[in-house]
Amino acid sequence: MTRPSKIVCVGRSYADHARELGNAIPDRPVLFIKPPSALTALDDGIAWNAALGSCHYECELSLRIDRPLKAETDPLKALQAVGAVTLGLDLTLRDQQDDLKKKGQPWERAKAFDGSCILADWVDVQDAVSDWNDVHYTLQINEELRQKGDTSHLIFDIGYLLADISQVFTLEAGDVVMTGTPAGVAALQSGEQLKMTLKGKTQDYVWMTFVK
Ligand code: ZN
Repeated sequence: MTRPSKIVCVGRSYADHARELGNAIPDRPVLFIKPPSALTALDDGIAWNAALGSCHYECELSLRIDRPLKAETDPLKALQAVGAVTLGLDLTLRDQQDDLKKKGQPWERAKAFDGSCILADWVDVQDAVSDWNDVHYTLQINEELRQKGDTSHLIFDIGYLLADISQVFTLEAGDVVMTGTPAGVAALQSGEQLKMTLKGKTQDYVWMTFVK
């Protein structure tokens, strides 16, 4: 996989998740960035510095940009820049983030640390997506259903998100957009097995990772 120049993440993009953390429903997309050094492989599993408190999973539909996107205003044209999709984990040091929010400080310590982004294998858009507003995915932990994603529930649809992001950040070929997480986030525990399933057009794509 080509290393992205950045991973652009969307926060609070599903109303049920914004509510579960006591956050207001945003009137424009909440954006933040993970650097490429945040990436880690499924096989390497999830690890963090336990002295920093809890680490939450956030399973998210993730997009690979294949054609550069800059200041695009047409959501349909923006969607054409996406070449592949997968599921990813936006790992979050929640206690750290709560502390940073209280202090009015940026989230990077909680969201952009080494190992904070796990991306599964890329699936070509034409194999995975027939309608961008009808993409479904799940996260199970130790076989128990924890998160259920349905892009029809996004506050801002994916075309709108991409067009909005491209007003702020030029998306380069290879860059990744994580579209935000549905409700059901919680703290990870040592030894847990995570199973992410993306419903494709003709098959389900399933990936596993684990907490060290
Ligand atoms: Zn997230």
